[in-house]
Amino acid sequence: MFLIPCPWCGEREESEFSYGHEAHIERPKEPEKLSDAEWADYLFMRTNPKGPHLERWVHTAGCRRWFNVARNTHTNEILAVYLMGEKPPKGFARKSAKRAKS
Ligand SMILES: [Zn+2]
Repeated sequence: MFLIPCPWCGEREESEFSYGHEAHIERPKEPEKLSDAEWADYLFMRTNPKGPHLERWVHTAGCRRWFNVARNTHTNEILAVYLMGEKPPKGFARKSAKRAKS
């Protein structure tokens, strides 16, 4: 159990929130030009770091608003909280996840 600071309600227990997966997954502007493998990468491939990770969360048992969180996945330390549509804080850039070549 860890605490998440909702931008509107303040710090609450993690059980009040729902995880909304990785943040900043940008939809391709021209999906018809992608190969099947590139489209599959967009749909399914996500980073899975041990350390800082940019995530979307919603305060389901509170204000029901979405926001972004930079969280250390190893320690559950919340490193930053910022609003939807905002860029990640300095030093937290999303690394793309690519399928491993086999
Ligand atoms: Zn809230």
